[in-house]
Amino acid sequence: MTGTRTYWLEHAWLDTHVEPGVAVDITDGRITAVRTDVTAPPPGAEILRGLTLPGLANAHSHAFHRALRGTVQVGSGTFWTWREVMYSVADQLTPETYHALARAVYAEMALAGITAVGEFHYVHHQRGGTPYADPNAMGEALVEAAADAGIRITLLDTAYLAAGIVNEHRGEPPNAHQLRFSDGSAEAWAERCSLLKERDHARIGAAVHSVRAVPAGQLATVARWAQERRAPLHVHLSEQTAENDACRAAHGCTPTRLLADHGVLGPRTTGVHNTHLTDEDIALIGGSGTGTCMCPTTERDLADGIGPAVALQRAGSPLSLGSDSHAVIDLLEEARAMELNERLRTRTRGHWTAAALLRAASADGHAALGWDEAGTIEAGALADLTTIALDSVRTAGPLPRLGAETAVFAATAADVRHTIVGGRHVVRDGAHTLVPDVPQALRAAVEALRT
Ligand SMILES: [Zn+2]
Repeated sequence: MTGTRTYWLEHAWLDTHVEPGVAVDITDGRITAVRTDVTAPPPGAEILRGLTLPGLANAHSHAFHRALRGTVQVGSGTFWTWREVMYSVADQLTPETYHALARAVYAEMALAGITAVGEFHYVHHQRGGTPYADPNAMGEALVEAAADAGIRITLLDTAYLAAGIVNEHRGEPPNAHQLRFSDGSAEAWAERCSLLKERDHARIGAAVHSVRAVPAGQLATVARWAQERRAPLHVHLSEQTAENDACRAAHGCTPTRLLADHGVLGPRTTGVHNTHLTDEDIALIGGSGTGTCMCPTTERDLADGIGPAVALQRAGSPLSLGSDSHAVIDLLEEARAMELNERLRTRTRGHWTAAALLRAASADGHAALGWDEAGTIEAGALADLTTIALDSVRTAGPLPRLGAETAVFAATAADVRHTIVGGRHVVRDGAHTLVPDVPQALRAAVEALRT
């Protein structure tokens, strides 16, 4: 997009405080100037009423899990019983059905103010494991879906080679569901990933599914691929105690120690969940600058436990947030859930300020996805913005200067009024501008997987 456009923000969140009356000039998708004390909209400016935040980053997503919403809330069980239902949905995906579902899910994200998603993607091949003619057909479908929904994506292409740990060099063979996840070896994974192309809205990163799914002897291959490209590297880490037990039995150490010893940790790496950790694990993660992506609505939905986010951050681990299994898609809920979980555990309040929670939901989330130039409203940043209504039934009342506290602790995704990505209005007055009927798109895409 060329030419300069000006947005007038009734209230803007400028990292530390709410500023009334801010004009933001945007050229070629970037912010070129931020002017304060602009008490009235300049002529020709687009008006954003409410509190405008930097766009929100959803740092951990499996788009197809959205098809499970509701269906997995019947009866009881654990993460492992939930996983069986999830596999039955993964079995149904094709590049066409996955594109339709992801387009609708990413449109739901845009409606929730999310401007960038980290898609932790492992459904690579046909059912049974045969590659598609284009070996990246599934990943490309996700990249295309993000473009169609108007948001940025970091495709975290995931190495998933084994069903469980056997020893340093070998894992249990993938089960019938997992065959389509596996490239056979980390070398073959790297070869396929190297064919993926970045686009204006899309970056390519890497992921290790978990220490269960990648034999220890192959971890360094994935880490090296990411390091050579300076790409983000994500890994599910200690979400379940069973993973810790299996790792100790096979390798005599925790999953975190195993990742550290094989070069997986570092400032471009993000551990997802980081739930069941030892003090040494926390020191390894923090000391290496490895990030932590908390997914509180999924962690509580799957009865995982509460990860030590306070201790991780104190040790040096930047925090990001993800909606993961999409039990709900609401980054404001993820942000407050992180704080509220700690309140329940410790019976004290105020572990994070609203400002710190917004930083996790935006700047640090973007950084975890390799979009370092997004997540703040300042000249030079990508023009990604999210406006929260301050006049809804949930948000009306408090003084505008408490807008950040209101947004984080009372607003929901339903209060997102505008979403702007690269200067383009993707959500205007609560309606998606590219996907006309998002609920219908979701319904049709989920139904297509059941027939
Ligand atoms: Zn996940």
